[in-house]
Amino acid sequence: MWRYFFITQLVNLSLFGQDFHQDIKIDCDTNFYLLEAYQDSLPFYEKEFGHNKKISIRDKKLKLAFYVALRHYPELKNVHMKVNLKKISATMMAQPTYSFLFHRKEKRHYQIFVNSTQANNGMYYKDLTFNSQVGWIGHEFAHILDYSQKSNKELLVFISKYVSSKKELKKTECEADRVAIRHGLGKQLLEGTNYFYNNKRITKAYREKKKIYYLSPDQIVTEMAENCK
Ligand SMILES: [Zn+2]
Repeated sequence: MWRYFFITQLVNLSLFGQDFHQDIKIDCDTNFYLLEAYQDSLPFYEKEFGHNKKISIRDKKLKLAFYVALRHYPELKNVHMKVNLKKISATMMAQPTYSFLFHRKEKRHYQIFVNSTQANNGMYYKDLTFNSQVGWIGHEFAHILDYSQKSNKELLVFISKYVSSKKELKKTECEADRVAIRHGLGKQLLEGTNYFYNNKRITKAYREKKKIYYLSPDQIVTEMAENCK
């Protein structure tokens, strides 16, 4: 997806590097989220947190997981986001809409694609527990938070590095995991990652990719311990 985007959209690229770090209040004392406890909460969440959000998937569990994760990211409360099903080679992915070049970063819209198929590609979202879905979406929110702090030019530079450098890919994905942990979603991320590591239905190639580019269960535990003192 990014590769296609890169080829078709990249214009006037210049390289410069800059790291963006935001001071985030660390609150790691979160619960294990159970769907049963949130069954009646969707109208409340849509009213309180649905501003500029459009979830085109008729799946109450996923919608609730989206909003429960969003509560951990107050920085994204007013950010425009769409969630759509799509056949992709990952479980979920987040990116700005293709028209981002024509808008200032404050007006940018983002989309989260959720893998629509149970076959071969990424893990099927319905196979994840509610708690794991919250963590998974929290990882995607970490990407959106990162994008939202970049200017258009910086975003283009980032995309070019992401698609061309495995080192940059790993750095980006591990940092997204760390940001999710710092937003209090370590337990959720850990459950999803453990499930992923032990899920024989996932292709070996995708499992190996995740082992290389994302935090391992042990690393998540270490990060939680370091960030939650
Ligand atoms: Zn990611």
